[in-house]
Amino acid sequence: MKENTSKNLQVKKKVVVGNWKMNPMTIKEAKALAEGVKKSSARLQNVEVVLCPPYMFIPSIISKSKVKVGAQDVSFEDNGSHTGEVSATQIVGVGATHVIIGHSERRKMGEKEGDIAKKVLKAVATGLTPIICIGEDIHDTDGKYLEVVRGQLLASLILLKKTEIWKVVIAYEPVWAVGATEPMTTYDLHQMSLYIRKILAEEYGKVAVGIPVLYGGSVDATNAAEIVSKGEVDGLLVGRESLSVVNFTALLRSVNNTW
Ligand code: PEP
Repeated sequence: MKENTSKNLQVKKKVVVGNWKMNPMTIKEAKALAEGVKKSSARLQNVEVVLCPPYMFIPSIISKSKVKVGAQDVSFEDNGSHTGEVSATQIVGVGATHVIIGHSERRKMGEKEGDIAKKVLKAVATGLTPIICIGEDIHDTDGKYLEVVRGQLLASLILLKKTEIWKVVIAYEPVWAVGATEPMTTYDLHQMSLYIRKILAEEYGKVAVGIPVLYGGSVDATNAAEIVSKGEVDGLLVGRESLSVVNFTALLRSVNNTW
């Protein structure tokens, strides 16, 4: 929360998450990308930036800057014989604060709703903020996608105590708009953000009121501000455009100026 001195109002910062996926290729490039974003976003008052690089780059880009760092996945196990897995304690231990859970690319690789729920529980229990990705594969005309979104949302939260629900971030990413040429229309997104907030309010009451609902899917500097303002979302999850300092900075600046 920040104070808007001109209006003397408390304004909630927009959250913009950069999902670097399996990029870039070297530590040198990762450091340069992170440094560039940190420098260019240092004066932005209305945006909270979270960078999610591959695991091995996390320690190199953690710093005292305002920019937060997250992982792209987490194990639901604590430790032990789980080859290739990384625990929440290990992620917190290197200074990260967030973790993306249930991204559609991981769901495509076979990640199940039960595993996502366990990961969300583990993240919250360890002090990481889970950025939970939900979204339909197909935006069908008969409205089945609404049930898909509802199902994914509630399944991901099912293991959390009601009193801990406020600790999560929801990233609505219609899969058909991820890595595509066009984002969802702002009208449809607005309907969806209302729908997600309605489900949260009905299921969890007041404790869910402040949960940030982000949008992801083909966001760039030219559409980001309109998506945030007309779609009425609390921020963005950005893939491709987070890999260029110039493009990501332009996107962050436009979101910073939306209120
Ligand atoms: C994503 O993969 O989460 C994503 C939103 O990608 P892009 O911004 O490239 O569509």
